Amino acid sequence: MAPIQMMKKIVNQILKRLVQPFASLFSKIASEAPIASEEKQSAAKKFRSKHKNPIACPECGKLMKNERGVKQHIAKMHK
Ligand SMILES: [Zn+2]
Repeated sequence: MAPIQMMKKIVNQILKRLVQPFASLFSKIASEAPIASEEKQSAAKKFRSKHKNPIACPECGKLMKNERGVKQHIAKMHK
């Protein structure tokens, strides 16, 4: 085998060994990412449930914290 081919083979083996841990790390991150976003969604749901009895604007359906908020919203946005 020519020396250059030997060198290429060795370099390829070294590169494979260097890249392998990163490849598995990236696939681990990619597989964990959807779980993280689900956690964020449930946190958003918890936040929304804190505002109990939201009232929707009859004009545009936008949710307000309470009846007074809807009245103020209508007075401001739907004159
Ligand atoms: Zn409205």
